Amino acid sequence: MSSELRELYQEVILDHGRTPRNFGAPSGANHHANGHNPLCGDRVTVHLKLKDDKVEDVGFEGSGCAISMASTSLMTEVLKGKTVAEAHALFHRFHDLLTGSNDSEGDAAVDADDFERLMVLAGVREYPMRVKCATLGWHTMEAAIGNEADKVSTE
Ligand code: ZN
Repeated sequence: MSSELRELYQEVILDHGRTPRNFGAPSGANHHANGHNPLCGDRVTVHLKLKDDKVEDVGFEGSGCAISMASTSLMTEVLKGKTVAEAHALFHRFHDLLTGSNDSEGDAAVDADDFERLMVLAGVREYPMRVKCATLGWHTMEAAIGNEADKVSTE
């Protein structure tokens, strides 16, 4: 990765970390989950409005390091309008990007533009401790998909 690109990526992370997009619970959200990364102290709550297997709206709340906030913020931007299968596929691809594994085979196709937006976090793979920060929002999103509003766990 060129240093210019790295700097640009860093700026996107700092921007999203400072000004998270889709912060708060969207109206009509019907799936929620809480996530916690004790290694770093990051906490997020992901709210999804799922309808007919589609992410109609998504938002999150929480606090933590810039990477956890930026990653969750970027996630909310790419997930809007996706089907649940597409959301899973994006998560697996993103996870592969950060861990260098290859678990996403057989998943639904991932939109190239969406994947490029997530590429800003690729540098995290050089810091294994930070991978948990970058994937916290995604793990929480996966939990939220399985959580109906009336079944939210109470930590
Ligand atoms: Zn963190």
